[in-house]
Amino acid sequence: MENTIQQCLEAAKCVQEKSPMYRRIFEGIDIDKMKTKEDFESLPFTDKNDLRDAYPLDACAVPMEDVVRIHSSSGTTGMPIIMPYTAQDIKDWAQMFSRCYEIAGITKHDVVQITPGFGLWTAGLGFLNGAEHRGALSIPIGAGQTEKQLQFMQDLGTTVICCTSSYALVLAEEVDKRRLRSKISLKKGIFGSERWGDKIRERIYESLGIEFYDIYGLTEIYGPGIGIDCGEHCGMHVFDDCVYFEIIDPKTGKVLPEGEEGELVCTTFRRQAEPLIRYRTHDITRFIPGKCKCGLPYPRIDRIKGRSDDMFKIKGTNIFPAQVENVLKQIPGLGSEYRIILKNIELRDKMIVQAEMKEEQNSRQLEEQVIRLCKSVLGIIVEPQIVSMGTLPRSEKKTQRVFDERY
Ligand code: ZN
Repeated sequence: MENTIQQCLEAAKCVQEKSPMYRRIFEGIDIDKMKTKEDFESLPFTDKNDLRDAYPLDACAVPMEDVVRIHSSSGTTGMPIIMPYTAQDIKDWAQMFSRCYEIAGITKHDVVQITPGFGLWTAGLGFLNGAEHRGALSIPIGAGQTEKQLQFMQDLGTTVICCTSSYALVLAEEVDKRRLRSKISLKKGIFGSERWGDKIRERIYESLGIEFYDIYGLTEIYGPGIGIDCGEHCGMHVFDDCVYFEIIDPKTGKVLPEGEEGELVCTTFRRQAEPLIRYRTHDITRFIPGKCKCGLPYPRIDRIKGRSDDMFKIKGTNIFPAQVENVLKQIPGLGSEYRIILKNIELRDKMIVQAEMKEEQNSRQLEEQVIRLCKSVLGIIVEPQIVSMGTLPRSEKKTQRVFDERY
């Protein structure tokens, strides 16, 4: 622990010297004088807004010739954030991810079908690099293409499926419909940790009868694969030999005692290209006290309970209300008030967008514009509800925009 704090302080010192973003954040702070855990906890947090403001590479702490890859995720307003990796960063990430597979009992005899998307998003490539590192056979098929997914699953003998729980549901239903269960060899599923998965998981289990593992991660902190639940399924082990984890009170910023619920904060002290110091994930969880029965040395966090900001997750995609607001702003016939309602309809996530039209006009046309723009900008098919001006409730305080009614 003491050693880890030293490494975190060294990383902080390094970024203060080398990253323009951290030169600003740590201005006037004498990190050389810092020695203890308490000293480290006095350092300011880093947040997604800092990374957005640092676009494209103001947070980078190495010369560009040392960067071998970038990934990107959408920021709070849709402005992307860019995360650079050195060769060592990619290796560390693959090693952690490989460890996830190992914890889930996956070996070189397994066939791993990877259904999350490839490209700037960290999910597809993270699953692939980890599986190759582990020595398993990977099928990097990527998102969608359900026909091909089912065909390869049968023909190549897929034993492990990596996906969001919502896509696993699609596959499970197809397996049922086509009576394929006896023709496939699936044993395990690795699912991105989603808050609303429980009922969906039961449904998937009914059809596929496989064991599920929750994998944790976020683009800013390598990507998925910095933690996973073990065969005991009582919390996710997180890899504290690469990342330092804290749980804070999201309101006061104070570090909470072990076991108390708060916001997860990460420091990537081994990262070279862009180490992040005390990065706020906004994921709400807690450390599970005590040792896990499985005997692994890594600490455990509980399943993610929610968020300390207004981001929400739908069908595996992170969305901030400001992104929806930006879409609605582009439609001249709409007013500025809007609400987002999230529902489960027959186990499927639905995103309803309510907006007001400026004067009486063809609401059908407005609805079509909302659907089209949300699809192209957010990648989500929404259900629009256009109402008359003044229908949506106003509030003098910060208006609540998102109503999550999913179970
Ligand atoms: Zn365990």
